[in-house]
Amino acid sequence: MYDTIIIGAGPAGLSAAIYTSRGQLDTLVIEKGPSGGQIAMTELVENYPGFPDGDSGPNLAEAFQKQAEKFGAKVVNGTVKEIRKNGNGFIVVMDKEELETRSIICAMGADPRKLNVPGEEKNVGTGVSYCATCDGFFFRGKDVIVAGGGDAAVEEGIFLTRFANTVTIVHRRDELRATKILQQRAFDNKKIKFIWDTVITEIVSNGAIKHVILKNVKTGELREHPIHGVFIFVGHIPNTKLVKNLLELDEHDLIQVDLSMRTSVPGIFACGDCRSAAARQMVSSAGDGATAAISAIKYVDAQKAEEADKTVRA
Ligand code: NDP
Repeated sequence: MYDTIIIGAGPAGLSAAIYTSRGQLDTLVIEKGPSGGQIAMTELVENYPGFPDGDSGPNLAEAFQKQAEKFGAKVVNGTVKEIRKNGNGFIVVMDKEELETRSIICAMGADPRKLNVPGEEKNVGTGVSYCATCDGFFFRGKDVIVAGGGDAAVEEGIFLTRFANTVTIVHRRDELRATKILQQRAFDNKKIKFIWDTVITEIVSNGAIKHVILKNVKTGELREHPIHGVFIFVGHIPNTKLVKNLLELDEHDLIQVDLSMRTSVPGIFACGDCRSAAARQMVSSAGDGATAAISAIKYVDAQKAEEADKTVRA
């Protein structure tokens, strides 16, 4: 029986693993893809404290994993199919085996929703981005386009004006979904332009992004729009299907947690981008992971103390 099973080896999951293994919990981390989660796709991380020259996402992920393994955490590749309650603990169902654990830390992350248009996938990291805080800096003095009309698109669009020459927000309707105060700030910002009733249907590149093809959804008209960078903020898809029937989720399918990262089920904790109201930054995910781990250590230690007490009484 493991003391804790951590699902997901992004910054949240691996930070949790550093803390739980260093806190003497027998720790298993299960990851379905490469270690690092979303940062595995990030060429340069410049805003993680302690790395003044930045480092690549995969390098940082490898360092996180090495640090967790140094303290005894085991990191394996695999997909969790189901989680079942089992007395005071849980059964984690994998492809070919079932594992027993006293506690679980959910760190499955979230994936940015894609536009799913030609040219999007092949230009991720070279002009297509889902994170203004991560990549805005690379577009100093350039022209960028932002897809979406919600709070994220407008807030990140405003943030991008710190670097970019112009920020064009292209929205599929003629009215933003974003809160009024954000809308007003964007309308007041001279660097921000809007294109309404329009979607991006293709991203055209030749080493670097050349232009996007825009389609007016009302008239069907297509046109080329020259641009240096494309920022896509059309929502996130949290990876929480696994726990949909087990834990309380919010209206965005994010796991509800308290300030100690405890979920609605005692013994299950959640951290990083799969939890409600996350800041969605590497540093905050790492902090979440540490908090979840500290809560898991307290939970498991209390459970073991109770069992020892029962044995003595018996
Ligand atoms: P939202 O779901 O709120 O908005 C997504 C936007 O993308 C909508 O405008 C939607 O259009 C558009 N969209 C969706 N799919 C497509 C598509 N395929 N093509 C083109 N456009 C598309 O997501 P956000 O990430 O903006 O926000 C998520 C949550 O996080 C919200 O609750 C938000 O309030 C919160 N948040 C709050 C912030 C703040 O308060 N400062 C900052 C960031 C997020 P349409 O409007 O037509 O549906």
